[in-house]
Amino acid sequence: MTVVRSVEAIPIGYREPNDHDRTRYVCLVKATTDDGLVGWGEATAYFPESTRAVVELVNGLRELVVGRVPTETERVWRDMRKHTWWYGNGGVASMAIAAIDLAMWDLRGKALETRVLDLLGGPVKERLAGVASGHATLEDLGALADEAARWVSTGLHGVKVGFGKLGAARLGFAHERDVEYMRRLRAAIGPDKKIMIDLGAAVQWDVAEAVRRVQAFEDHDLHWIEEPLGHWNPRGYKTLRDKTTTRIAYGEREFGVEGIERVLATGTCDVLGFDPGRAEGLTGFIHAVERVEAERTQANAHAWSTAIVTAASLAMSWATPVCRQFELKPTRDVAQYELVSNPLTHEKGWMPQPQGHGLGIDVVTEVVESMRLT
Ligand SMILES: [Mg+2]
Repeated sequence: MTVVRSVEAIPIGYREPNDHDRTRYVCLVKATTDDGLVGWGEATAYFPESTRAVVELVNGLRELVVGRVPTETERVWRDMRKHTWWYGNGGVASMAIAAIDLAMWDLRGKALETRVLDLLGGPVKERLAGVASGHATLEDLGALADEAARWVSTGLHGVKVGFGKLGAARLGFAHERDVEYMRRLRAAIGPDKKIMIDLGAAVQWDVAEAVRRVQAFEDHDLHWIEEPLGHWNPRGYKTLRDKTTTRIAYGEREFGVEGIERVLATGTCDVLGFDPGRAEGLTGFIHAVERVEAERTQANAHAWSTAIVTAASLAMSWATPVCRQFELKPTRDVAQYELVSNPLTHEKGWMPQPQGHGLGIDVVTEVVESMRLT
């Protein structure tokens, strides 16, 4: 079988209209085999300095990958984890492993002329609902509710709204105003759409405030509250769990299986967030969903960077029962719609299965080059 001939780290920056036009950064990995197959991966590093750090780590890990056959995804992943024993087990090392692992899975599918979804065992569900996942940025509560109504008017099955983000919305900071927003949002989108609220790092609720907010939001049927007490607060989450019935989502800031096990062991995480471009790739995701299923909780695939992570997240979301919906950025952006010639989006609110060999995306190299950091 063909072997990997080269592994290239490509740091890029792109404008993100869904995040107040901020520039976001990721490190792509392009792995090429000796017979010309190309696999793409991504490290969702988000910041310029972490993206550059990932470049260095990918360059260091390259020697573990070159010469390997593309079907060795699990072994290469284990070798990379072993190699990073001193500086890894989290942080940028997990992102570098993620980017290479995703590229290996893409190559594996291409070498075997198979979809990654089928390598994962194939779809385990009839359909997968899409939801909009956006940041609240407008000042006027009515305008914010109307904006969300526009997002779901395409057929999407719900909205996840980021509080405490850039812009003038100032959601998350004042109880009465937040509750009024929730009331207007529910009125605008109707009773059948799901509402998820995701607290940004700028919002710092204490436990009492989280309990009071979630109890008030429950009158308007909140599907889940995400990171209301940050990424790690087991006692606070236990209190919130005891006093409310809304699902609690967190875990997306963990880097691998150990962190995920720690979160699940608290018994307070109902929806485990997971970004395969951050937490050791699709192989990391496979190990995570097995544990999530054993705990009878849900997982939620993060897909808020480029189409490469979206393709991996979508394949896994079809291949496991624990992922029950799929998030899409509401505004078309270059990372999803121009970086690849075949963007992944919903059809009347339902997500398609990824098609084509490997991850099933056709990366446009000219667009990659136009975004490349120097
Ligand atoms: Mg989140």
